Amino acid sequence: LCVPELPEVETVRRTLTPALVGRRIARAVLHRADFCQTSGGKPCRPRELLQGMRVAALERHGKQLALIAAEGPVLVAQLGMTGQLTVTAAGAGITPSDHIHAQWLLDSGSLLRFRDPRRFGGLSALPSVDSLRERWAAMGPDGLRVTGAELADRAGRSRRSIKVVLLDQEVVAGVGNIYADEALFLARINPLRAAATLRPAEWELLADAIHRTLTAAVAAGGSTLRDYMDALGMPGRAQAHHAVYGRGGEPCLACGRGLKGVRLGGRATVYCPGCQPRRRLRLVKEA
Ligand SMILES: [Zn+2]
Repeated sequence: LCVPELPEVETVRRTLTPALVGRRIARAVLHRADFCQTSGGKPCRPRELLQGMRVAALERHGKQLALIAAEGPVLVAQLGMTGQLTVTAAGAGITPSDHIHAQWLLDSGSLLRFRDPRRFGGLSALPSVDSLRERWAAMGPDGLRVTGAELADRAGRSRRSIKVVLLDQEVVAGVGNIYADEALFLARINPLRAAATLRPAEWELLADAIHRTLTAAVAAGGSTLRDYMDALGMPGRAQAHHAVYGRGGEPCLACGRGLKGVRLGGRATVYCPGCQPRRRLRLVKEA
């Protein structure tokens, strides 16, 4: 299953922006009470779902998407594994088997719908943009903007493997299993190396590789997302662009050696032993 990662969520943000920003929410309906959380733990009322408010902006950090109301309140959507936010023409009825847990009728007449069959996603209602900034500051910098210095600062003393470190949302937000493997391949860094062994230049290479990997995936994201939404369970077209992810045992696209599959932190990890060698200690003595 193609689980939404940062590029897919960014694609959703870009797709929804023209339909949502500037629109007033005429009516908001929650079909499952447990699908929306407030900071106080109380049930989400229509007000928390931004009913009667105007959408001022749609922002993303990592895999979280925030609808910011001009009146102040914020609604954060997490797509989880199977979450989909779509805008459709109003009028189409829904049944429980559609797994639509919340919907918003816009003043344009369109409907925004949050569908999530497996319900690992959900909504969080926040009282203000300040509380959104606070929530996002507790996470690592966003994958599209993180710098090498920020990565080194947050993980440079870690004895964990660099692959496991990249999946830590407090180090960098939005890098999942696919793009961690792809970025490490691009930066020619072995995923099994302890993060503490990376040199400053390698952190810079890695940050650059993360940006390039995610940016390319955002560019391909439209098609991936369409596949994902049209045919749930079918691999997205971006699969064809993966250099290492899901290709264990197959030849490396750069050097032809067999790609190696290992498990790290419980996650399938693929790398090229030729392009991503374990760094050897320099023990050579000058003659
Ligand atoms: Zn290779």
